[in-house]
Amino acid sequence: MTPEALLVTVDHVWSGRWRGPSVVRATREGLHLFGSPDPATSAALPHLPGTLLSPFTDSHVHLGLVDPTQLGPGGIARVLDLGWDPDEASLWPEHGRMDDAWPEVQVAGGLLGAPGGYPSRAGWAPATAAVPITSTVDAHREVRRMRDLGASVIKVALNGDVGPVLDRVLLEAIAEAADDVQLLTVAHVQGLGQVRRALDAGLLRFAHTPFSEVLTDDLVDRAADGTWISTLDIHGHGRGGAEHEIAVTNLTRFRAAGGHVLYGTDLGNGDLPVGVNERELRALQRAGLGLDELLRALGSDDTLDAGSDGRHWSRRASWIPTAPPGPDGDAPAWLATASVLTPDTLLEKTR
Ligand SMILES: [Zn+2]
Repeated sequence: MTPEALLVTVDHVWSGRWRGPSVVRATREGLHLFGSPDPATSAALPHLPGTLLSPFTDSHVHLGLVDPTQLGPGGIARVLDLGWDPDEASLWPEHGRMDDAWPEVQVAGGLLGAPGGYPSRAGWAPATAAVPITSTVDAHREVRRMRDLGASVIKVALNGDVGPVLDRVLLEAIAEAADDVQLLTVAHVQGLGQVRRALDAGLLRFAHTPFSEVLTDDLVDRAADGTWISTLDIHGHGRGGAEHEIAVTNLTRFRAAGGHVLYGTDLGNGDLPVGVNERELRALQRAGLGLDELLRALGSDDTLDAGSDGRHWSRRASWIPTAPPGPDGDAPAWLATASVLTPDTLLEKTR
């Protein structure tokens, strides 16, 4: 660790918006953006080449299926785990706080859903990841249990393709219980008609871009009050496929209607690269997101990160050793060259 505080200069900084050349201060607590360098004094400071960016977040991962220490070298500094054994997942946020080799971690815990429904028969999930809800009492108890285990969001399973789904009363009970403990819900919405059912129950935050059907304009408009986590590359890994095309079409319209898009990959689900996924970014680009919008999608969600003013980061930042590409440049390829720096590793990259 650096003895006290370390000051470095950097030419390009992204923190919700582009900032010009900046002085960055690294302390034990985190990285802080100062103003522009003073030419008289900053020439003596170590210089970090390239671009420093507020920590890239993958808002849909399953850490239980990957090696978390591979995320930092791949550019991902923060993750939201959207489903695992709740007791095991409850240990991860603390692990992320203690160990810079891990990303910062937020977790959902288990997936609340209908008994016998998704993901109780899914190959990827431990049996304990499925939390059956049969009454409104269950809904309130299990939401509080997830909260007590350190959940940052409540995951709801609403997958009509593989089994029974919760009725409206129970979906609304979960939404209400989450509201009571001031947690957001994130719903896995899959199968014909389930987007409408989710919206009717007040579930506005989706773990995946809907891929089961091309949504009507009316549904896109209603959904656009909410947030979708992209996961476009889970379908045939970017090689096309009907569900991928449906998802890109839906996301293009959702974004045009003002919906909030977060980058998320469903990491652990199939053969996905551990770190920034260039194919996911390329698919988001097809849905109309330019470089700045890709960066906003890669930023952590403000509602999950209250108190950040954009200048004080945690101990992690994403870093790209080159300057940002111009308007005709290849933004996904550039972003995929990111790695994570901490106060301990920042100095190694300066010159
Ligand atoms: Zn998932």
